Amino acid sequence: SAKVIDGKACAKKIREEIAAEISRMKEAIGVVPGLAVILVGSRKDSQTYVRNKQKACEGVGITSHEVRLPEDCSEEEVLNHISCFNDDPSVHGILVQLPLPRHMNEERILNAVSIEKDIDGFHPLNIGRLAMQGREPLFVPCTPKGCMELLHRHGVEISGKRAVVIGRSNIVGMPASLLLQRQNATISIVHSYTRNPEEITREADIVISAVGVANLVRGSWIKPGAVVIDVGINPVDDPDSPRGYRLVGDVCYEEASQVASAITPVPGGVGPMTIAMLLSNTLDSAKRIHRFK
Ligand code: NAD
Repeated sequence: SAKVIDGKACAKKIREEIAAEISRMKEAIGVVPGLAVILVGSRKDSQTYVRNKQKACEGVGITSHEVRLPEDCSEEEVLNHISCFNDDPSVHGILVQLPLPRHMNEERILNAVSIEKDIDGFHPLNIGRLAMQGREPLFVPCTPKGCMELLHRHGVEISGKRAVVIGRSNIVGMPASLLLQRQNATISIVHSYTRNPEEITREADIVISAVGVANLVRGSWIKPGAVVIDVGINPVDDPDSPRGYRLVGDVCYEEASQVASAITPVPGGVGPMTIAMLLSNTLDSAKRIHRFK
C-alpha cells in the first residue's frame, strides 16, 4: 500500500527553518517580517483560518497585524486599509481573507494589494507571470505551492510526467496546473464539465485533486503507482466524533492508498503545508524588501 506523505511533519520542518531564518534576519538587520490580515464579515470558517494563520505567525516570529471589518462595510473601507498596509514599512505581506461579501468587487480589491506584498499570489500580475514562459511571479499561491513542495521533498519526479489536476479554481486548481506545467509535466485539467474524468485521471503519474466533493476520486481512477495529492477538505457526518462530523478529502483514501505509490492524508496533508507556505512567502517578501540574503 501507498507511502503516506506526511504534510504535518513536513510543515513542521519548514516552520523550523523559517523560524531560524527570521532569528538570523532579526540579529543581522533588526527587522522581523510582518503580515497584515484583513477579514471582512463573520464566516466561522474564515475566522478559524485567520486564527490559525496568526498562531502560525507567532510560532515563527512573524508580527501579525489584523483588521476585522463588518459584513456590511464598504469596499472603500477595505481599499483604504489595503492602501495603509501597502505604505506601512513594518508590513511585508497583505492577506485579504476570501471569500469577500457578495457586494464587494473581489477583482478590484485583489488588484489594490501591492504586488511586492501579495503573499497570497492572487494579484493578476503575479498569476499572469505564473502563466507566462520565462517570467517569474513574485509570489506563488500558498496551497498549490504547498502541493509542489510536498512533491519535491518526497523526491517525486515531475518533468516529462503526466499530471492531472482535478478542479480549476483561481486559488488552487488553476495555479496548481500552471506550476506543474512550469516544471515540464504534461497536464490535463478535469473539471465539472469533463465527460470522462475517471479515464483521464487514470493516465496520470501525478494527481492533484481540489474539488470539494468527498470520495469523488475512487481507487479505480488511479493509475497503479501514481502519486496522489488530495487538497479537498470536506466535512462528513460522523456520529462517533464529538463534533458530529469529521474531515475527509476528495479522494477515497482507503481505495486509492491500495493503488497509489504515495498519497497525502486528510487532515495532515496539504492543509498544514498551506500555512507553512504563507509564512515562507512572508519571510521571502521581507528579505526582498530589505535586500537581505
Ligand atoms: P472551488 O469550489 O472554488 O472549485 C472547485 C473546482 O472543482 C471547480 O473548478 C469545479 O469545476 C471543480 N469541480 C466541481 N465538481 C466537480 C466534479 N464533480 N468533478 C470534477 N471537478 C469538479 O473550490 P477550491 O477553493 O478550489 O477548493 C477545493 C477544495 O479544496 C475544497 O474542499 C476546499 O475546502 C479545499 N481547500 C483546501 C486547502 C488546503 O489548504 N488544504 C486550501 C484551499 C481549498
